[in-house]
Amino acid sequence: MNMSVSGKDLQPTGAWTTEGRQPRIAIIGAGFSGIGALIKLRQQGYTDLTCFEKAGEIGGTWRDNHYPGLSCDVPSHFYSYSFALNPDWKHRFSYGPEILAYMNQVADKYGAKQDIRFNCGVTDLTYLGPQWQLTTEQGDVERFDLVIAATGVLVNPAYPDIPGLDSFAGEQWHSARWRDDVPLKGKRVGIIGTGSTACQIVGAIAGDVGHLDVFQRTPHWITSMPQKQYSATWRFLLRRVPGLQLAIRNFMRWLMEHTFARATLGDEKQQKRVQDACLAFLKEQIPDPELRARVTPDYKATCKRMIMCSDYYPALQQDNVELVTERIDAVVPEGVKTGDGKVHELDILLLATGFHVSDFILPTRVTGENGLELSAFWREAPRAHRALTFPGFPNFFMLEGPTGVFGNTSLIDISEHQIDCVIAILDKMKRDQVAVVAPKQEAYEAYNQAMSRDIGKSTWATGGCDSWYLDATGTPNIYPWLPQQYREDMLNPDFSEYRFEPLKVAV
Ligand code: NAP
Repeated sequence: MNMSVSGKDLQPTGAWTTEGRQPRIAIIGAGFSGIGALIKLRQQGYTDLTCFEKAGEIGGTWRDNHYPGLSCDVPSHFYSYSFALNPDWKHRFSYGPEILAYMNQVADKYGAKQDIRFNCGVTDLTYLGPQWQLTTEQGDVERFDLVIAATGVLVNPAYPDIPGLDSFAGEQWHSARWRDDVPLKGKRVGIIGTGSTACQIVGAIAGDVGHLDVFQRTPHWITSMPQKQYSATWRFLLRRVPGLQLAIRNFMRWLMEHTFARATLGDEKQQKRVQDACLAFLKEQIPDPELRARVTPDYKATCKRMIMCSDYYPALQQDNVELVTERIDAVVPEGVKTGDGKVHELDILLLATGFHVSDFILPTRVTGENGLELSAFWREAPRAHRALTFPGFPNFFMLEGPTGVFGNTSLIDISEHQIDCVIAILDKMKRDQVAVVAPKQEAYEAYNQAMSRDIGKSTWATGGCDSWYLDATGTPNIYPWLPQQYREDMLNPDFSEYRFEPLKVAV
């Protein structure tokens, strides 16, 4: 590897707070969280920012995913930055390309792209107190006072562990690695998985393909997506009526959290309401009782992430679409072989089988105090203090980190609150002239114990299903309280939970 040292490198060995200079801040990843961090930090006067993006353009999940039907099941006016409300959303629930265009418009408007180094993945982060040494894929080495990882959650595709997968003679790809160069028209297509992604893809391609086999291992609870195209008059009103956009954003947030979050977090009446709505939707959409029975889950609604999709059930009833509920035995060169011995012959096999959700910033090697590696710290399961910081990893923050608020809500809203919390911590470091911040071990343990105690009451734990919210021990690894509480934690951080230390001078 060509190890080189950049011009700015290795000089800052003192504390930015006592030296009276700007902190050098590295932000890793230029998706919604990373762009939000660049903008909000600069707005608050933190200007020495470098964002490392492994790809050639911004976008994160909205760049990597471009499958047919890609849309967001969080309402557009809530799935937006609070500081860049958009009166021009065309639909109540936006499609992928419009969301990516919005992110680019905001990044351009606030000049965020000037701080991004594209095609520059980070391989290593090593804490050399009070700085972090960062190594890029190109072998460049630099030091930063603080690191903010904004590397996303659903990043690394999970390929199913099915015998013979590689033996398939046709084309196959994962939903997050969509092949735009292979037309589906008239082809025999199979799709493995029936999660949020698969439902959107099935709805979008069923009318185009020759034949579609949908391989379902577990049925998911689905509610309708009340899609709506916004009129020009409505968009005009949003521009003209002061406060209207914000009121709509807040209403959408209340609605999402009042329905899904409450239903998940022990409000049994609300859980029943959500489940009954799904059952009514199912009955209305699928008149055939036999097919209906095959797609009716036997676990509680909100145990897995709720799916909002209005195209899936109609697609399943098209003549060229077959729901396959026999277990998959193997993939063979001709197609997919199921437990009944049948080979479903295919030209194209689509894998909508989800993501490795325990990776976060990994495989970047992150080494904290006393040589502690993040992968070792996370050996049992990825944990964090308030889904943001880690004991033993000073001056290091992770947006959308483990145990975060990942249910049916806007991750943009959550990451904005996390960025505000990071800024509050930086302001305190500056005020008190301290060089090092990290959560106290005892605060981290107390917080995680409280989480473990309360998560057991949620339908993620009690609903009787398997989901990506569960860690390797089968425990939900997700925020167990209402999102409102998390926002308040972020707005009013309890500094007594952190150790703030001045720079130790060697004598
Ligand atoms: P997912 O929810 O993890 O679903 C994966 C699907 O693949 C499941 O149906 C799973 O079956 C199936 N599967 C996995 N391995 C299999 C195997 N070996 N054999 C047979 N089936 C297998 O993944 P996703 O649909 O990509 O969604 C991931 C997350 O992305 C969602 O929960 C959501 O947070 C996000 N998302 C959001 C939106 C949005 O509109 N906001 C849209 C798409 C995705 P089991 O259920 O039996 O495990």
